[in-house]
Amino acid sequence: NAKLARAEEMVEELERTCASPLERLRQLADAMEVEMHAGLASEGGSRLKMLLSYVDSLPTGDEEGLFYALDLGGTNFRVLRVQLGGKEKHIVKQESKEVSIPPHIMIGSSGELFGFIASELAKFVAAEGEEFQVFDGRQRELGFTFSFPVRQSSIASGTLIKWTKGFSIEDAVGADVVEELTAAMDKQGLDMRVTALINDTVGTLAGGRYYDQDVTVAVILGTGTNAAYVEKANNIPKWHGLLPKSGEMVINMEWGNFKSSNLPITEFDRALDEESLNPGEQIYEKLISGMYLGDIVRRVLLKMAEEAELFGDTIPPKLRVPFILRSHDISSMHHDISPDLKVVATKLKENLGVINTSFETRKMVVQVCDIITRRAAQLAAAGIAGVLKKLGMDPSSVNHQRRVVAIDGGLFERNKVFKNCLERTLSQLLGEEASRFVEVTLANDGSGVGAALIAASHSQYS
Ligand code: ADP
Ligand code: MG
Repeated sequence: NAKLARAEEMVEELERTCASPLERLRQLADAMEVEMHAGLASEGGSRLKMLLSYVDSLPTGDEEGLFYALDLGGTNFRVLRVQLGGKEKHIVKQESKEVSIPPHIMIGSSGELFGFIASELAKFVAAEGEEFQVFDGRQRELGFTFSFPVRQSSIASGTLIKWTKGFSIEDAVGADVVEELTAAMDKQGLDMRVTALINDTVGTLAGGRYYDQDVTVAVILGTGTNAAYVEKANNIPKWHGLLPKSGEMVINMEWGNFKSSNLPITEFDRALDEESLNPGEQIYEKLISGMYLGDIVRRVLLKMAEEAELFGDTIPPKLRVPFILRSHDISSMHHDISPDLKVVATKLKENLGVINTSFETRKMVVQVCDIITRRAAQLAAAGIAGVLKKLGMDPSSVNHQRRVVAIDGGLFERNKVFKNCLERTLSQLLGEEASRFVEVTLANDGSGVGAALIAASHSQYS
């Protein structure tokens, strides 16, 4: 069957163009390290912004009191309250509420966005139980996780550099997002102070540190991807301010914007980028993160439908709809262990309106999911290896210090193939000796609880 053979050939071709052998991944890790140096040396010195977070004290575990967090960075935002009990008790109680952001707000005006957020926050505070207690006479304090590139000048201020991940609100670019939020809270009559503006990576680092003082790197693998780590203040030439007491500063890398000629970029990635809201930007993120994986797969399947009649002699119209396949669809098809790939059949039917797929077709769909997912995991591992190298974890010169990488995000948490592939690749890149000192942990909800913890460690009353 000529069509089947053509389809198989296309899968092989995809496999070849996506291939990321260890040698290539090592070069990517090196390139990441080089870019990190360049980004720390001067403003605009690299595609990696290497942003100063102004977080110079990470939580110790002793923090006490009631703190709030607001997490904005994906399709949902969340509000949280966390009652901290100090050394032994840690988190005594927490509550949160998740709200999905209406699509028109994601591309509307700044006033609408922050107005919407502040009104949800006000409702959340109004519904508070008595088991949550602010210390007498104190103002409520909030950590604001805003997971977009922001240029900060202090712990509680920062201007938006650009939107990513499907947001596009022009009048917010260049504005101080803390001022915007504060103004919106005032309008709601909500007496609350934003004590820290952070990125979800920084929150993840804080959340990890709260329980394990060896956490030095945090990575997000969810809708988007990014990383943060603890840098010595002396290693940041572009910083001319006062050195913090701790001698350290958390750096938000904004690594999603990484790019290198060694990245295995295909025609599908190029088309996705060109048609995206931010062409030419966030190239690494577009190869890795959950927002894009499904659409890369869709583009591959569309070409296979056009050139090899993968789904019969007509092309399923839904296959032309951008972002109709999502990363959790890819996960479930990819993890289908039924002998006849029943889940794949169901997903194809539900998402693409394709019925009566042959076993061969389903198998090829799984292969495509596999190739795209593994490439993502391997590239993420290369990035982590690069950061660890910058921190002195080099296979050729192991410094015998335990390092923990805290990872948060739905892609890492829920796609087991992705998770396993990332961990295996990272070990291979670090080598046996260095691997013994590196641990990867799932740090759940750094962007939520982590933000409340930083609000506590930077409280106006402490
Ligand atoms: P965010 O980056 O928006 O904070 P989360 O960490 O909450 O994201 O993770 C949600 C994202 O994770 C989704 O947008 C999706 O890309 C990805 N995701 C969710 N569920 C799965 C899944 N089962 N398999 C793979 N990816 C998933
Ligand atoms: Mg998140």
